[in-house]
Amino acid sequence: MVHLSEADVAVIGAGAAGVAAGKRLLAMKANFVVLEARSRAGGRAHTERIGGFPLDLGCGWLHAAERNPWTKIAEAEGLIVDRSPPPWERPPLEYGFAAAEQRAFRAALTAFYARLDAAEAGPDRALAEFLDPGGKWNARLNAISTYVNGVELDRASLADYAAYDDAGGNWRVAEGYGAAVVAHAKGLPIVFDRAVTAIDHGGKRLRIETASGALAARAAIVTVPTALIAEETIRFSPKLADKVEAATALPLGLADKSFLSLAEAERFPADSRLFGKTHAAGMASYHLRPFGRPLIEVYFGGKLARELEAAGAGALAAFAIEELASLVGSDIRSKLAPLADTAWARDPFARGSYSYALPGHAAARAEFAAPVDDRLFFAGEACSPHHFTTAHGAYETGVAAADRALAAAKA
Ligand SMILES: Cc1cc2nc3c(=O)[nH]c(=O)nc-3n(C[C@H](O)[C@H](O)[C@H](O)COP(=O)(O)OP(=O)(O)OC[C@H]3O[C@@H](n4cnc5c(N)ncnc54)[C@H](O)[C@@H]3O)c2cc1C
Repeated sequence: MVHLSEADVAVIGAGAAGVAAGKRLLAMKANFVVLEARSRAGGRAHTERIGGFPLDLGCGWLHAAERNPWTKIAEAEGLIVDRSPPPWERPPLEYGFAAAEQRAFRAALTAFYARLDAAEAGPDRALAEFLDPGGKWNARLNAISTYVNGVELDRASLADYAAYDDAGGNWRVAEGYGAAVVAHAKGLPIVFDRAVTAIDHGGKRLRIETASGALAARAAIVTVPTALIAEETIRFSPKLADKVEAATALPLGLADKSFLSLAEAERFPADSRLFGKTHAAGMASYHLRPFGRPLIEVYFGGKLARELEAAGAGALAAFAIEELASLVGSDIRSKLAPLADTAWARDPFARGSYSYALPGHAAARAEFAAPVDDRLFFAGEACSPHHFTTAHGAYETGVAAADRALAAAKA
């Protein structure tokens, strides 16, 4: 057992934000430690080699790629950044979704975004209020929201949508985004399997409790997902009611992935895409042959993802195989085999995929990010003012929190 005693700065969590904070503290030669609940770094950035390929079970896309710090880091670590355009910038395959219908849907999507943009300066409202009442494409527009926000449009805030900055392209790391975050974590003093259970910030020093020992620190950087703060998985004493309230206004939406191996893959173009049918609970999206590999990456969001996770092991893959059979023909069944299904809502150290602001609560991001007594700092995707939900947003908040925490510890 590693004996914990004292540090200037304690970083809680070794995901994208915690790793970024740690690297900054390392560069500044700080006396610090990173406490991580899991037995690995990366958090929601997680690549696993399955079926011979590095699969990103969490984040996969370097959004805002030209400005994304992970792009440079991945290349500096000797990883390959694939700059080909993402499949969603090209028309999907026509199975179950004819070209004329696709055109009509794109027109509805453009008109929907135009209504959102026109209303940005006004009061905050749920995005669902901008749907065309009775519109033919509303279910599909809702499904797109489940991929972007992890929830349907009635839960997502217009002001939060307006604050998000996505410019700069979308690239991928061939070896995996999660692998890039883990490579960057090399050399950090991370103590694994060390979940923080409580932080006492009543005394001169912070007292950071874990199941196997406590640590005294001058400052701490808390990077755990909002859901865990909302559930008070880490108990603060004195209590931080404002933080719990802000975290509750920033729940984690749900996105899950299923990976299927695909025999005779050449019948589909590389990096192509197709959409499932719209169901009451949503719609899956299929990325065929990512990087030209013989597999399919299926994306589920919102209620559909929740229902399938709740249905138990194998439910995502079973749903995808059924749907693919109905779209492209039942002979596909024998060509598909499940490789991996994610379950981010069940994951005790995530409890979801990425944060969204409830309508009327976009300001909760700044409230959640605000330091307490200039020694408890908060970082992670939910704290980013313009790049929330992403691994690069998490990175930026981690670096900023490290600078502030170190300055506070030295004061
Ligand atoms: C399916 C999916 C797809 C996604 N796609 C993309 C994408 O394409 N592009 C993109 O940019 N983003 C994407 N994201 C989001 C992205 O993965 C996250 O925004 C980012 O990784 C969050 O980093 P973080 O450091 O804020 O949090 P986390 O990665 O959650 O890190 C927090 C860390 O804290 C640890 N922890 C939790 N509780 C405790 C405790 N009590 N004590 C100690 N440690 C604790 C956790 O184990 C974790 O390691 C996706 C996420 C998912 C799930």
